[in-house]
Amino acid sequence: MATTHDQRPTTRIGYGFDSHEFQPGIPLKIGGITLIHDKGLGGHSDGDVLLHAITDALLGAVAAPDIGALFPPSDPKWKGADSTVFLREALKRVHGAGYAVANIDASLILAAPKIGPHAAAIRVRTAQLLGVRADCVGLKAKTPEGLNLENAAVAHVVVLLEKRRNPKKLRKKTRKKTKRL
Ligand SMILES: [Zn+2]
Repeated sequence: MATTHDQRPTTRIGYGFDSHEFQPGIPLKIGGITLIHDKGLGGHSDGDVLLHAITDALLGAVAAPDIGALFPPSDPKWKGADSTVFLREALKRVHGAGYAVANIDASLILAAPKIGPHAAAIRVRTAQLLGVRADCVGLKAKTPEGLNLENAAVAHVVVLLEKRRNPKKLRKKTRKKTKRL
C-alpha cells in the first residue's frame, strides 16, 4: 500500500473551462453565491459557471471522467441542481485518490455584473467548499474585450493538488469541515 502511494506524483495539476449564456428570469449564481442581476446563467443545473470549471479542474487533476460524463445535462435529475453537489463529488474523488487541494486560480470573463464587489464573498465561499483558506483561492474578473461575448459568462480554472500521506485521516477532516458550513 505504502509503495503504491509513494509511486504517485507529489503534485498534480488540473484545468477546467466552462461557459454559459445569460437568460432573463433566472437567478445568477457564481461561485456558490447568488448575485443580484436581471439575468442568470442558463443551461446545465443552476448554471454556476465557476463551480463547474472548478469541478472539471479537480476531476481532470485526478484523471476522472469530466462533469458532463458524471452529471449528464440530458438527465432531468440535474436540471436546476445545486452545483455544489458536483463540486463535492469531484472533491471526494480527489481525496479518494489521496490528494488535497493546495490552491486554485480562476479567471471569470463576463461583461456584467461587476464581480469586484462580490469577489471576496465568492473567494470565501469557494474556499469553504474546497476546504482551503480563502488566500488559496485566486479570482480575477475580466470583461470580454473584443470577444463579442456580451451575453455569456466564461470561467477558466487551474488547480494544484498535493499528495497526502494519510488519505483516510484527510477524508475525516474534510467531512468535519464540510459539516460546519
Ligand atoms: Zn457549466
